[in-house]
Amino acid sequence: MTVIDQVKEVPLKEYNSKKNFSKSPEPKGVDNTQARNSYVIQEHHARRLHWDLRLEKDGVLKSWAVPKQPPEQPGERRLAVMVEDHPKDYGIFEGIIPEGEYGAGTVKIWDKGTYDQLQWTEEKIEFILHGERLKGQYELIKFKKAGDNQWLLFKKKGD
Ligand code: MN
Repeated sequence: MTVIDQVKEVPLKEYNSKKNFSKSPEPKGVDNTQARNSYVIQEHHARRLHWDLRLEKDGVLKSWAVPKQPPEQPGERRLAVMVEDHPKDYGIFEGIIPEGEYGAGTVKIWDKGTYDQLQWTEEKIEFILHGERLKGQYELIKFKKAGDNQWLLFKKKGD
């Protein structure tokens, strides 16, 4: 029987590989597993305007780029493209990513707060947002037909 060494995935490797921290003011990705259940949406005026939804999970910010303003009315839904994990410190970042750098443009916090996780699987994430703008029950559902990283973000009806 062969023993295969478990290769521990380096946290935030993809994030760090896309950034030049000597040129951009964005925070460097470090391992930080103290839980806070933070939630943030950053309005990102990149080449295309989008909103970056981030939910703290296992020491990083799980992240989705939402091409249209996130849903505030029950029943509304938006496409959400899953992107690489971001460091927790990214949740307080606002500033300008310089021209020529990955994601160049202005980043502003659009909403922030905490969330309660109701369910988190590979295909479905149900949560309650306690933001300054967004409140109540939301759902992210994997939209397999549209491609690997495609999800749909719903504001649930009721409450
Ligand atoms: Mn972005």
